[in-house]
Amino acid sequence: MKGLMRFPALNVLLAFGLGAVLGTVMRDQRPQVGLARAAAPAQAPADGKLRIIIFGAHPDDAEYRGAGVAMKWAKMGHHVKLVSTTNGDIGHWQIAGGPLALRRKKEVMEVGRRLGVTTEVVDIHDGEILPTLENRRIITRLIREWNADIVIANRPNDYHPDHRYTSILVQDSAYMVTVPFFCPDVPALKKNPVFLYASDHFQRPNPFRADVAVDIDDVIEPTLDALLVMESQIHEGGANGYPGLYPEDQTGRQRRREEVRRDLAGRYAGYADSYRDALVKFYGQERARKVHYAQAFEVCEYGRQPSRDELKQMFPF
Ligand SMILES: [Zn+2]
Repeated sequence: MKGLMRFPALNVLLAFGLGAVLGTVMRDQRPQVGLARAAAPAQAPADGKLRIIIFGAHPDDAEYRGAGVAMKWAKMGHHVKLVSTTNGDIGHWQIAGGPLALRRKKEVMEVGRRLGVTTEVVDIHDGEILPTLENRRIITRLIREWNADIVIANRPNDYHPDHRYTSILVQDSAYMVTVPFFCPDVPALKKNPVFLYASDHFQRPNPFRADVAVDIDDVIEPTLDALLVMESQIHEGGANGYPGLYPEDQTGRQRRREEVRRDLAGRYAGYADSYRDALVKFYGQERARKVHYAQAFEVCEYGRQPSRDELKQMFPF
């Protein structure tokens, strides 16, 4: 409502209901704060540290995507934010709606606390996000408010519609964040961020290309500890779980916990193997050979195109 407050006289007119036409005009000029988000802070100040924002469609996607690299950045004092573009309220086989959204939000807030990053869950229903103008504004505002140097998301070719459209929305913002009169309620970025895609296994229309690979061996244990907080997704299996998957008895639970930890570790070990060539480019043959766990990223064509040196400054590990 800040825009209306700037015009107290018109406000009074509107308050007395004088002129529906005038009201319509004013509505179009008001800052259109997305209803799916609480009032957000203005653009974050620049303190010389990197500012990274990582998007995922559900309360767990940005966490897997950020994971070790987010913790590495955070430990060096850089500012990382993880965003879920939906509230995850159908992401379980047994419960749904508000109670599930609250549970999942609690889980990712705790993951964020452990990784040392900021977390936000946008209140859009799980399974229902679309690449609309209003959602483009929400994503643009999030990137601008964070004053991001680096934006990370998944690629748009993906099995889940929420993943696809979240990626499209981030791509749609990759230029608009610099356009002053798009969403003028949050100042446009002077410098377009570098947009990166996290790795995936999809082959069509083109396979993932690792432009950056990060050794996360030094943070793998606390990272796994943090991710395993998301019991509703990892232990209970999310939307594809079933009764008995996370048993009631202590022995069964312990077995399941060990199994999911092994699987998760295996995922990051698989990245180290798949993207060994990129690790060699970043760390040299000697060190790259010894890396057990890694994450990899591809530079998106739509944001600022970083030089090799700039990429190394953005991943100063
Ligand atoms: Zn997801």
